[in-house]
Order: sequence, then structure tokens, then C-alpha cells
Amino acid sequence: MHPMTAMTIQEKSRNLKILTDVDVAVVGGGIAGAAAALAASRTGAKVCLLEKSCLLGGLATAGLVTCYLPLCDGRGRQVIGGIGEELLKLSVDDEVAPSTAMCIGRIPSCWLPGGNVNDRAQQRHMVDFNPVTYACKLEKLLRKSHVTLYYDMRFCDVHVQGDTIDALIVESKSGRTAIRCKTVVDASGDADVCVAAGERTVAPGGNVRCGWYYYADGDGKMHRRILTQPFSATKRFPENGRTFKGTRVEDVTAMCIASRELMLQDMARLKATEKQDIYPLAMPSIPCTRMSRHLQATVTLKSSDAQRWFEDAVGMTGDWRKAGPVYTVPLRALAARKTANLITAGRCISCSGDTWDVMRVIPTCAVTGEAAGTAAAFLAKDTEVSRFAKLDIAALQRHLKRHRVILDKSLLNPIL
Ligand SMILES: Cc1cc2nc3c(=O)[nH]c(=O)nc-3n(C[C@H](O)[C@H](O)[C@H](O)COP(=O)(O)OP(=O)(O)OC[C@H]3O[C@@H](n4cnc5c(N)ncnc54)[C@H](O)[C@@H]3O)c2cc1C
Repeated sequence: MHPMTAMTIQEKSRNLKILTDVDVAVVGGGIAGAAAALAASRTGAKVCLLEKSCLLGGLATAGLVTCYLPLCDGRGRQVIGGIGEELLKLSVDDEVAPSTAMCIGRIPSCWLPGGNVNDRAQQRHMVDFNPVTYACKLEKLLRKSHVTLYYDMRFCDVHVQGDTIDALIVESKSGRTAIRCKTVVDASGDADVCVAAGERTVAPGGNVRCGWYYYADGDGKMHRRILTQPFSATKRFPENGRTFKGTRVEDVTAMCIASRELMLQDMARLKATEKQDIYPLAMPSIPCTRMSRHLQATVTLKSSDAQRWFEDAVGMTGDWRKAGPVYTVPLRALAARKTANLITAGRCISCSGDTWDVMRVIPTCAVTGEAAGTAAAFLAKDTEVSRFAKLDIAALQRHLKRHRVILDKSLLNPIL
């Protein structure tokens, strides 16, 4: 075939420089990746985190999704502790919002030490935060915890020996290089490492155009505007129009453009109805994809798993949408099936149907991030076992509990 008409070209083979050599490499600096890196470092591992944008927080900061959903079950019981709680506190520890319209909150008083416990069933343990200061504080926290950060670096491929990833291939301003590692946490939100490693993944689609933005009014007061439409993976909301998968470049681009059009339409409508000037100040700088692609592990969480205890539980979460349901997260829903040293966190974990909508939110991403990072550090240090599936679960659970992760079977008993 003539080279100009062929649909593929061959890339020249080359030797890649090893940029660094770590115990745990975390791909993606969203809430899940930040929690994973923090946990792995606190477990004694040498950790690096690579992020394709130039700040930490992912959807929570660059995506302007500035609402840290609850740590509780909606019946007054806290089900998320550890880094999930630490990152919630961090998100609002310095805030003095000049205007209530900015929607930057405080931890509800009933959830503070000494707060009225009877009010906890009425008010959920959640906050709204400032995305700018939050990204900076996450960065400071990770640097203080000796995590090596690489910004503007994109994960491209894996280098595999047998059933184990021994290096990640990355692209950055330094060109194409490699990161040698013992274990890998896929916190890319899109299961990019899982795909490169040949793991089974699912991309259900159903994302709708959306986007949160901030604007100033004619008096200079800043407002947050939430533009969101119901998620339509189940095709229940045809009025949302086109849906996006988020796994192909054309589709991601189309979603970004459609979301910005939605924002512009919203501003035009506000100008017309509110009869005042509206000056846009900030808009999402990453695609606001709720669900793109996730791992299919040996255990896939589903809605009937609410109130179910898993023997390999590494975290717990409530359901932000309604009071009552409590889930445990098993290690098997995070670990890759065939790649011995690959584990997922955040939006990439294995869950189906409605459960995915429970697991994808910020506090739960912190829970799975902490679990994945800790497990990755355990595996990197273990000289006896080389697979997540073979880790000493009891030791891992003891360690997590020492770090204030809640693993409590009694929380699965419904409150009548
Ligand atoms: C419109 C919308 C509204 C939402 N509302 C809420 C809400 O009110 N409250 C709430 O708690 N949750 C909400 N969520 C969900 C929540 O914000 C996200 O699901 C959660 O923050 C995801 O965290 P994550 O770390 O798993 O993924 P992400 O935040 O997506 O982070 C993944 C990171 O990996 C990086 N990355 C991706 N690929 C690569 C690569 N190849 N190489 C290097 N880096 C890479 C990305 O740049 C990103 O920083 C909402 C989500 C959306 C889209």
C-alpha cells in the first residue's frame, strides 16, 4: 500500500530514559490519586504522582465541582474517616467567604466535636469549598508528605514483565521517558492504565453536557452556578440530548464544546432574566465526565451490595443521594484481574449500575484512594507476595483502622 494512504504508521523504536524509580506510581492527581499518594507515602513507600494538567484535585478543582458530599449515612452516623475526613476538613480550613453567593461552607456544627448528635440525622456531614485554595492546599500537603509530583505529564503506556508492570511510559516537556515502579495506582478517572495493561474495562457512556462556573454580578459579587443535568446512562432522560462516552478524542472534544455552549446559553438567559451584567470568571478546564471507563475486577459492586460486609473490606461509604444505605468496599473491586501489581481508585473502580453513582463522588474517591495507596505500599514492601490478591488482608485492615479508616460491621445494621 502507498505510505500516504495507509491507516497506520510505524513509530520508531527507541530506548527511554528512566526518569525516576519508585515503589508506588500514582497516575492521576484527582481526589482519588491525591489520597492514594498520601496514603502510600505515609505507609513508608517512595511515591510519585503524575498528572496531565498542572494542578491537583481533578474534577473537584479544575472541574469546579466544589461540593464535598457527605461522610455520613444520612441517619446520623459517620461512615467515612481517615483521609476522606482529613481532605474534607482541609477543603474548608481557611475559608472566610466574602459572599454567601460563592457557596463556600463550613462543617455543620452538629458534626464538630461537642456538636449536637441529635441533629446529625437531619444535617449531612458535607461542605462546599473554594477550588483555588483547595488545589494549593492539596499540593502543599502532598509535598510535605514527600510525594514527588510531575505536572503536565501524561501516562501513555505500560512496560510489562510477565504479569507485572515494571515501568510506566510517560510524555512531558522532557519528552518520552519512563518511570520504574513496583506497584501502580490507576486514578486516571478513565482507567487509562487498565486499558494499556490489557485489563477488562467497561465504558457505559451516558454523560451529558454540564459544567459549573463562577461569575461576578454588576456589584462585583461572585456567584457559583451549577449547570448539571441528570445523568442518563440508563437512557431515562432523553431530554438531555446527546450523550458522550468520554473515551475517544472526538467525543471528549464534542462534550467540552457542548458544555461551554450550555454555559454561554445560561449566561445569556441570566442576563435577559436578571437584567444585570454577568461577568464570567472561571469555567471547568477539564472534561466534566461523570463516568467514562472503569475496571471490571473479580468483584463488581452493585446496589444489592448495600449493607453487605466483605471480608476484604478496605473502606466504607454512605449513599449521598439518600439516607440509609451503607456500603463496604472490598479490595477485590479495586485490584486488576490479571496484572499483579495494578490497582484502581476513584472513578476507575469496578462497580455497576447505581452503585457507580455512589462510588464516584469526592468522599468515596478519597476512601478508595486511601485503600489503593495503602495496599500498593504494602505490596511494594512485601518480599513474599507479588499480587494484591495475596496480601495479608487482616494486616492491611489493621493499618487502615490505625489511620482512622472506618471499618465497622455494626454500621451495616439499619437504624429503625
Ligand atoms: C458535573 C459533575 C458534578 C459532580 N458533582 C459532585 C458533587 O457535587 N459532589 C461530589 O462529591 N462529587 C461530584 N461529582 C463527582 C466527583 O467530582 C468526581 O467523580 C471525583 O472528583 C472524581 O475523582 P477522581 O480522582 O476519581 O477522578 P478525576 O477528578 O477525574 O481525576 C483524574 C485525574 O487524572 C488526570 N488524568 C487523566 N488521564 C491521565 C493520564 N493519561 N495521564 C496523567 N493524568 C491523567 C486528570 O487530569 C485528573 O486530574 C461530580 C462530577 C461531575 C462531572
